Formats: sequence, C-alpha cells, structure tokens
Amino acid sequence: MKILFFGPNGSGKGTQGAIVKEKFGIPHIETGVIFRDNIGRGTDLGKEAKGYIDRGELVPDSITIPMILSRLKEPDCKNGWLLDGFPRNLTQARELDKALSAEGIDLDIVIEMVLDRQIAKNRIMGRRLCVNDNNHPNNIFIDAIKPNGDKCRVCGGDLKTRSDDQDEEAIDQRHNIYYDEKTGTMAAIFFYKKLSAERGGKPRIVELDGRPGVKEVSADLLAQLGK
Ligand code: AMP
Repeated sequence: MKILFFGPNGSGKGTQGAIVKEKFGIPHIETGVIFRDNIGRGTDLGKEAKGYIDRGELVPDSITIPMILSRLKEPDCKNGWLLDGFPRNLTQARELDKALSAEGIDLDIVIEMVLDRQIAKNRIMGRRLCVNDNNHPNNIFIDAIKPNGDKCRVCGGDLKTRSDDQDEEAIDQRHNIYYDEKTGTMAAIFFYKKLSAERGGKPRIVELDGRPGVKEVSADLLAQLGK
C-alpha cells in the first residue's frame, strides 16, 4: 500500500500517520524527522537543512527530492510506504509522480487532513515532544493529550519543544507554504485530486476533518480506509 499523507503543520498528521503505519505495517517516512535526525547527528545534510528549517522555509528541492526518492528505494519500502511531509509543493508532486510512473509504481491513497489555519497554529504552539518517542502525543492546549505536569503523558519521559514550534513567524511561514494553492502544498493536493479524477479514482482521495479529537479523527480515518 502506497499512501501520501497531507495536512497542515499542527493538524495532528504525525499522530494519525503512526496509526496508519501500524494498521498497514508499512514504514512511515517523515521528511521532517529525517531532517531533524540529520541535524541531531551533525551530518552534512543536517547542517545544510538547519537554516531553512529554523526559518520555516522549505529545504531546497535539489536536496529534498533525491533524498526521498532514494529513501523509497530502500528494502523496507518494497511492500509500500506512508509518505508524510512530502510532497510539499507542486514541483515535488510532479517529480514524485514522474519517478513512480517511471518505475510502474501506483499510488493507492492520498489522505488530506483538512484544518483551519488559526486552529492549526494554536495546536503547534502547544505541542511538546517526548524525548523517548516523537509519536507520543502531548499538547498543552488540547485536553485529550495534555502532558502529565511537565512529563510525557504516555511514558513519563521529559518533554521538549521544537525550536521551530515556538517561533510565530516560522509557523506563519510554514502555513503560507501549506495553504498556497498556486505552487505550495495545496497545489500538490489539487494535482493529486486532478490525477485521481483523470485516472478513474486512482489514487483514492480520503478527506479527513481534522477538528475533532485524536480518537475521533482516527476512527474516521480507519473507517474510510476500511480498517
Ligand atoms: P515537519 O516536521 O514536517 O514540520 O518539517 C519540518 C521542516 O522540515 C519544514 O518546515 C521544512 O523546513 C523541512 N521539510 C519537511 N518536509 C519538506 C519537504 N518535503 N520539502 C522541503 N522541506 C521540507
């Protein structure tokens, strides 16, 4: 199963993505996680990407596109993958489509989490990351996933904030890119919707209302995926 997962920063996409990964038993490939891992390890890629990420800008396509296309060729991707955070603009969408078509690989599902820009912004600013597991949901502004004091609600681990989560200018910048219908992420989503219409509903488009709580959104998602 090959799945693309779209949603603005702050929509809870990472949390829902982890559930999809579990249900389908496919690797969850998150561009942002790959970049942050490289920054943490001090690699050349990390050094190159850091400035862009701190400003909320996209890392240039010349770095990101080959990085992801080569990741998709790794052995664990043989039976499918869940791609999260890529494509993030129209160029990346076109390049991914070209690369998959060249290999005769069909995309099965495109998931779009729909969420108002202001709600997404509040959620980002409340987000806390567990040092033990990025997928442990903690947010000081969402009752259902409020941390336990200043510790992770899942495992009791220490919590930290992402530097780019507390910077309002960077958040607005990321949302400017996401909600841009001409060349940004919304343009990529339109690209897949058009493709789906032209190719008889393949990939299947799944639209998710991102406003309810984590559990309700998961239930909606799994129902729509027939899981
Ligand atoms: P995320 O964890 O998805 O919020 O991504 C964090 C940051 O990584 C983004 O703000 C970008 O700077 C960078 N990034 C993630 N995905 C991409 C992508 N597909 N293209 C370019 N930059 C990206």
